[in-house]
Amino acid sequence: ASGQQQQESPCVAELCSSAEGLCDTVVGVLGGGQLGRMLCQAASPMGIRVAVLDPLDNCPASSIAFRHAVGSFRDTNAVREFAKGCGVLTVEIEHVDVETLEALAAEGVDVEPKPSTIRIIQDKYLQKVHFREHGVALPDFMKIDNAESAEEALRIFGYPLMLKSRRLAYDGRGNAVVRSKEDLTKAVSSLGGYERGLYAEKWAPFVKELAVMVARGRDASISSFPVVETTHKDNICHTVECPARITSDVAKLAMTIAEKAIRSLEGAGVFGVELFLLADGQVLLNEVAPRPHNSGHHTIEACYVSQYEQHLRAVLGLPLGDPSMKVPAALMYNLLGEDDGEAGFAIAHQIMQRAVTVPGASVHWYEKPEIRRQRKMGHITIVGPTASKVRARLNSIINSNEFNGT
Ligand code: ATP
Ligand code: MG
Ligand code: MG
Repeated sequence: ASGQQQQESPCVAELCSSAEGLCDTVVGVLGGGQLGRMLCQAASPMGIRVAVLDPLDNCPASSIAFRHAVGSFRDTNAVREFAKGCGVLTVEIEHVDVETLEALAAEGVDVEPKPSTIRIIQDKYLQKVHFREHGVALPDFMKIDNAESAEEALRIFGYPLMLKSRRLAYDGRGNAVVRSKEDLTKAVSSLGGYERGLYAEKWAPFVKELAVMVARGRDASISSFPVVETTHKDNICHTVECPARITSDVAKLAMTIAEKAIRSLEGAGVFGVELFLLADGQVLLNEVAPRPHNSGHHTIEACYVSQYEQHLRAVLGLPLGDPSMKVPAALMYNLLGEDDGEAGFAIAHQIMQRAVTVPGASVHWYEKPEIRRQRKMGHITIVGPTASKVRARLNSIINSNEFNGT
């Protein structure tokens, strides 16, 4: 446009002048699961190239990634080799070889968010210590090394007690509830014993679980998506509803706590912040993910910029997009494997077939190589004019009365 000043965007290096698309930098993602897949989907319209590193030959991202390097994101050689072809490295899973990322960053490789952030987050106990030190409200917790410290935790925190493994936790694999003293041994062994590295958390008697997706740009600007409310079944995310049905005071508090937590970490990207809302209006932090998150899937259909596009913008140093809602209401439903293999597929397929007949419903299938019980296989997002409409539409898709009212 003649006469108009071309706006200089703070894009990474001088790599953006190419005709390849919006940005010439190849974004390397450690992990090629559903989050990596949706990063690839968000990158495509902008002509941004996303490479993924994943050990599974046919991982969810492999069919649509610009490049899929088959290898483990926990193997130093694989990560180093992968990094050579990328302009910036990021993650879709926190359980990666962080030592190698630290070494690469020291050698000048661009890693976002910073390896220091991934190191803190991948050990849930260290994560809690970090946030406590930074004045972020969270449930009391203590490290558990043996039967004595476990019994001490029971004495101090009472029942029920949440036992968690420090590392490699996801979808509640790594959590065990202790409801009585007799439960303790079983709970500990279900997590792999004291050697696994455990900690205990005081039970949070929440009335709702909330989540905020917080984006931070390379210039440290912060931009958050609207607060959502989440439900979990057997510790696994079940639904996400946006906007959360909470007062504006609670929404503000949730946003403040989430942003405070993210300001205490280094690097650019989208962060998923999980929170508990207590009956008295207190909001406590549960945990943070240094990447797009299940609680942000709905942003694909519900917000002006999705969490995936926002993550790409953030790590590339592009301006952050507008995270506000472009529809009045959205509801996301996770499609878990109800059974292993074909039987599980049949159930999911029925739901998807109904979903495509419902206005405002979008089907996301992750193309996981195997269907397994309790695994996230896909999700459905329904957008619409009111919370009660999208709830009714979800009921019709899953053939239930689970979601009533507004
Ligand atoms: P994710 O898949 O989100 O990474 P995770 O395996 O890391 O899950 P958490 O987020 O620690 O597990 O816990 C899973 C769920 O268990 C929470 O969303 C919440 O419903 C419940 N939960 C966790 N900690 C507590 C607690 N201290 N008190 C009560 N419920 C809890
Ligand atoms: Mg977790
Ligand atoms: Mg969690």
